[in-house]
Amino acid sequence: MAAQEASALGERVVGYTLRDSRYLNVTSRCTLRCTFCPKFNGSWTVQDFDLRLRSDPSADELIEAAGDVHAWREIVFCGLGEPTLRLYTVLEVAARLRKQGAPRLRLNTDGLANLVYGRDVTPDFEGNIDAISVSLNAQDEETYNRLCRPSLPGSYQAMLDFIRHARDYVPEVVVTAIDGLPGVDIEACREIAERLGVRFRRRVLGVVG
Ligand code: SF4
Repeated sequence: MAAQEASALGERVVGYTLRDSRYLNVTSRCTLRCTFCPKFNGSWTVQDFDLRLRSDPSADELIEAAGDVHAWREIVFCGLGEPTLRLYTVLEVAARLRKQGAPRLRLNTDGLANLVYGRDVTPDFEGNIDAISVSLNAQDEETYNRLCRPSLPGSYQAMLDFIRHARDYVPEVVVTAIDGLPGVDIEACREIAERLGVRFRRRVLGVVG
């Protein structure tokens, strides 16, 4: 059974463990309103962890929640929200964890940071983010818009552009899509990843990590 351990500061789960990875719950805010997201389906719970945050944890709280960086295979910036909405906190925490000797730092993202910040933010990741996992979610814009309900126009193309840029600054870029969602063609998603020259990971509905 997977080792699981939550770090609650007050009533908040700021860090939690799945297998040998430590997850940091960066924010509950999102750029998307995915139809399949637990929080839009009446639940904030992921693998028994209640991830709802009524306020965002500070950089110091995230560092504390990371614990002993040598204890984990990787530390992952995520949340039931979009970590890059707190880009500068993520960058600060990543740099500090790196200084402590964190072996691997991964960012889970919707890939919309360039659109949100109005600039290419991917060079900011160089040196401190080892891997990025981008939610591609769909093989075309129409399906993406229906499933992810983005708040910003042009999100799908912006996400694809983000992936292209991230390849230059992050050693490992993986794109993901969830098998089992209506209208999602997993093989077509895999082909997009191949065309972009990045790895594809098929996710299964309801399984996190
Ligand atoms: S990006 Fe993630 S957290 Fe945000 S709405 Fe979609 S599934 Fe939920």
